[in-house]
Amino acid sequence: MITLETPLSAIHGIGQKFLVKLKKMGISSVRDLLWHFPTRYEDFSQVYKIADLIPNQEATIQGMVEEVSGRRAWRRNLYVTEVVIRDDSGSIRAVWFNQPYIKNTLQPGRIANFSGKVSEKEDIYLSNPTYELVREAYETKHTARIVPVYPETKGLTSKGIRYLIKPVLDHLPQLEDPLPRALLSREHLPDINLALHSIHFPLELPEALRAKERFAFEDLFFLQLFNVKQKLALTEQRAPSFPVDLPFIKDLLLHLPFPLTFSQKRSLWEILKDTARATPMNRLLQGDVGSGKTVVVAIAALHAAHHGYQAALMAPTEILARQHYETFKKFFGEFEGGVALVTGHDAKVFYGNNLETIKKKKELLKEVKDGAIEIIVGTHALLQSDVTFRSLGFIIIDEQHRFGVEQRAVLVKKREAIPHFLSMSATPIPRTLSLTLFGDLDLSLITELPKDRKPIITKTVTQKERATTYEFVRKQANAGRQIFVICPRIEPRQANPDAPERFSFRELQQLDVKSVTEEYEKLSKKVFPDLRIVMLHGKMKAIEKERVMKEFMERRVDLLVSTSVVEVGVDVPNATIMIIEGADRFGLAQLYQFRGRVGRGVHQSYCFLFTDSSSETARARLKAIVEARNGLELAERDLRQRGPGEFFGNSQTGIPDLAMKALRHPELVKEARAEAIRILKEDLKLKKYPLLSKRLAEFQTEVHRE
Ligand code: ADP
Ligand code: MG
Repeated sequence: MITLETPLSAIHGIGQKFLVKLKKMGISSVRDLLWHFPTRYEDFSQVYKIADLIPNQEATIQGMVEEVSGRRAWRRNLYVTEVVIRDDSGSIRAVWFNQPYIKNTLQPGRIANFSGKVSEKEDIYLSNPTYELVREAYETKHTARIVPVYPETKGLTSKGIRYLIKPVLDHLPQLEDPLPRALLSREHLPDINLALHSIHFPLELPEALRAKERFAFEDLFFLQLFNVKQKLALTEQRAPSFPVDLPFIKDLLLHLPFPLTFSQKRSLWEILKDTARATPMNRLLQGDVGSGKTVVVAIAALHAAHHGYQAALMAPTEILARQHYETFKKFFGEFEGGVALVTGHDAKVFYGNNLETIKKKKELLKEVKDGAIEIIVGTHALLQSDVTFRSLGFIIIDEQHRFGVEQRAVLVKKREAIPHFLSMSATPIPRTLSLTLFGDLDLSLITELPKDRKPIITKTVTQKERATTYEFVRKQANAGRQIFVICPRIEPRQANPDAPERFSFRELQQLDVKSVTEEYEKLSKKVFPDLRIVMLHGKMKAIEKERVMKEFMERRVDLLVSTSVVEVGVDVPNATIMIIEGADRFGLAQLYQFRGRVGRGVHQSYCFLFTDSSSETARARLKAIVEARNGLELAERDLRQRGPGEFFGNSQTGIPDLAMKALRHPELVKEARAEAIRILKEDLKLKKYPLLSKRLAEFQTEVHRE
């Protein structure tokens, strides 16, 4: 008996050749095969009479093979098979190229279905149709029906895949559905057995779509089940409570040289309310670069320290950690608890009155252990390292969307009360997506930039304006300002030596794309030999990247040529020009983020978008960037305009497959979440749902693997 776990190699009749090809597609078990879903369907369900065929239609006919012939065509390497098919209305030719074996199957006298395109040259004929012999006892797989079209790989066609799936599906015993029956009926979804059959061999299209919806729902449901379970489980945990001390907060706010923006206040309030509770906060603070997240979390951290608990603030790089530490020093320098910076290169503390002391790391960590240091700023490595806290009550992580389940588990193991968690992120992620990917987190949004920001003058520029743009750059550099130049690629594209001068249209376009190394050469040798120029890209070692960024921040460099790796969140108020080469190659949200790296200081800033693409689209995109009120809004627009594929590009956003599903079915995300909440509220441990529980565990490992 076969089950979902049966390896395909154990199934009689699947040849070694197929197994290898399937393996390449990641298919090795019955489950893999059956979950290899069609990407689309072709409707060959209506069988046409030959006499009724019209040119250019896709159709299925049924008829008898009358004649078969094969010949070499005028081009020597082309073998043409021709078959004449007859039904009671007339006859037609069908033609295949390079499939000489066809004559073994389609022998005169045989009856078969033929599905394909009706072509026309002198008379009409079927070109390269899919065919299938008609044997009365069998349901057809390839013709005279709705035909599934699968993602194909070299040498494994849709037809081949259909050929494999049908018998496996027919021999599979009834499966137990992991989704509870009541849920299926509430959501009007087919059960798993029907759905599997419908998704591969639907009798009509709506049936296939319902099946697709079921599987999409199932994945989103398990994701939400996972998220909501995490979330509810957390409410059963204990965390230290920091009741909101308003006078203390007001006093801190008075130390700031500016009022908080409305959404900074709202976010701060949401965080304070959470940390006042005795259950752990798990929240994501999302806001554009420069929207002032650090100040908000600094206040929340000081408030925790005020209640006698320690707070840890962690950033992805040393530079950003230093920057956060500086924020504490700049605004809350009189704070008396002790704020420390610990990275690979720094170990220092200030204990109030702006007195900063450089320490031995060991000594500093001892003070953390004793509780003399209340706030500790460092890199993400801090969590993994051997730092021991006396009373860690609050963890803040910058630019990391969530805490790993394991990370949390480690912390939970160590103490009975677990700290509050806050993530900060400048990556704009549309709503549906954050609900999908971070459904276990509460969300605070900073939606506006501080009011004192001068709008950045943004312009699209063409090649013709390059010289004047460079003149302007030189003037700004001479006035002491700094410049970013962003390029889409690292190295110039090498022409393919095997096929010189044969490029596809897309490749030709890419040939023009500026590379960092080329641009660096050009700018430093030819255009601005007088300026100090450095380059930055993702292939450099982390330590190299940090060095370059540090030079730039310390104004030892005038111009930085970089790929998109240039640090999110790096604050260089002296930088006033952002030049983006090949601007049409980037998504709107990305362009917006690049631009956000200038305009952070007192000087007027500029953003120049170089593009040679047709000016109309370029202008529309530019307009969108100028008009957008925040990155989130733009990300949503970007997603709508370019679709999920382009939106995600190569970037790692987490769980791409699920994300795609979520984006195509935002309403399913909401329903899946509601169902997950409904079931877990009633039965958090899923005691009544053993199958759900088992599948959830599997799902967790699958998601983890991705
Ligand atoms: P983010 O971490 O969100 O990128 P930061 O917290 O680094 O932003 O803030 C960017 C800059 O704006 C900092 O120099 C900060 O002092 C300043 N800032 C923060 N909030 C305000 C505000 N409400 N008004 C004016 N400036 C602000
Ligand atoms: Mg920041």
